Amino acid sequence: MYLVVGSGMLGVIAARRLAEADQDVLVLEAGEARTAPPGSHLRNRPELNADPLKFFNTVLAQADLLDPHVPDEELPGVNVTRARGGQGIVWTNNCPELAPHERWPGRSDEEWEALYAVAGEYLGVTDDLFPGSLRRQFVRPVVDAFYAKCGGDRVSRPLPIAAHVEAGLPAYHGAFDVMEGCDAMERITFRENCPVRRILWSDGRVEGVELESGETLRAEGVVVAAGAVDTPWLLHRSGIQPEGLGRGIHYHPLVMLQVVLDNNLCGDADDPLPRLWGPPTPEHPWHSMILRDIDIWQSPEAVPAHRLLEFQFFVPVDINPENRILFDAEQPRFRFTFSAADRERMRRAEEEAVALAGRLGRIRKESGPTWNMPGFSHLMGTCALQVDDEPALSVTDGDGLVHGFDNLCLATVGLIPRSTAVNPTFTGAALAVAGADALLRA
Ligand SMILES: Cc1cc2nc3c(=O)[nH]c(=O)nc-3n(C[C@H](O)[C@H](O)[C@H](O)COP(=O)(O)OP(=O)(O)OC[C@H]3O[C@@H](n4cnc5c(N)ncnc54)[C@H](O)[C@@H]3O)c2cc1C
Repeated sequence: MYLVVGSGMLGVIAARRLAEADQDVLVLEAGEARTAPPGSHLRNRPELNADPLKFFNTVLAQADLLDPHVPDEELPGVNVTRARGGQGIVWTNNCPELAPHERWPGRSDEEWEALYAVAGEYLGVTDDLFPGSLRRQFVRPVVDAFYAKCGGDRVSRPLPIAAHVEAGLPAYHGAFDVMEGCDAMERITFRENCPVRRILWSDGRVEGVELESGETLRAEGVVVAAGAVDTPWLLHRSGIQPEGLGRGIHYHPLVMLQVVLDNNLCGDADDPLPRLWGPPTPEHPWHSMILRDIDIWQSPEAVPAHRLLEFQFFVPVDINPENRILFDAEQPRFRFTFSAADRERMRRAEEEAVALAGRLGRIRKESGPTWNMPGFSHLMGTCALQVDDEPALSVTDGDGLVHGFDNLCLATVGLIPRSTAVNPTFTGAALAVAGADALLRA
């Protein structure tokens, strides 16, 4: 029997991989179900799916900020969703792969592609949700002409998403959907309201876990998939404290704005959602999403929905060991400062967003460049895996097995050791597959 701590996207991916190798798996979840079926995506409720404004406000109520009152350098935006399905009930499902320059040494491109293929099948990633979107068709050549003028070799692509289409709307995939099509489903059991207090171990072998209730559970191996915040926290609480734990944390600051498209670039009122992606390159290292998805501004200017687009540009930051988690209080605290290069990259990304908006139309009233709360988007590197040249900052080997253990593995975007701009869950899912395989081999 294997135990998986956490029922979010990456916990269920590890669980499915283990079950498909004929192992029994018990998934322990601290929270309870907030959606039906358990772990399904909140956004599939009809009233939320069709309205980006309503969805985002609902999301904010489900992504619990650890402490919104701390100053920016303590990351007031860090958030968790302690519920069945974790943040998979609220994520926006964008699933780009790491750009070639964002990949770290230790895994070949062929190995990455094999892991992404399995992860893509489990998550249900499609490269082109709405190929018929007129807005995408009209906007794309303008975007590519802009990129050509900027120099470098950026070319836009359809933005992959973990969803399928139902009755003309996206059906968003959550943790529940990862189990769809899993023949080994009967090998997986879920227990909700079951927080793990600590991992039980001795002499480099994990024996099981102790629950908050005091109950102990024995296991052949354990996967900790408790999210980027609670995974290092649980390791620390269990006395597993490699030097790199919580060191070199990173996230990608996100700037957003909303565009009113010129008349010649918008489709008709029934136009399906446009989804485009400007992949990061070494010269332009931010990740540019051009889509109609969320509305955070509540603009006073009425505009028909089919004339609107949002930009979401994620900017990578430098890795700095002094950016870290502090384990000295009742809950994790954070220290994070931007480098001068980070600030310059953020300035350039914002400048480019405004310039591109001008090519496509104009910025909607009171919907100009807005940076989201520090730490909100995708905390990573909280329990980083080892990259050849950086062993001191790592917590696990290259596959996610915790140093010094052969039956304890992590499945979280907290493993991501290098600065990245693309949304991390697809890569986290690929790593969860690699981690489960390593656990089975051990
Ligand atoms: C609004 C929003 C939009 C997003 N959009 C995207 C996107 O478009 N693309 C993308 O790639 N990423 C996106 N993300 C990030 C994405 O949601 C996460 O990367 C992903 O869901 C993380 O999955 P996980 O399983 O690692 O962790 P989580 O979803 O955090 O799940 C961890 C689970 O572990 C449980 N747990 C914690 N501690 C314990 C314990 N001690 N015992 C038992 N259980 C425990 C928690 O209750 C939780 O259910 C978004 C996030 C948010 C908030």
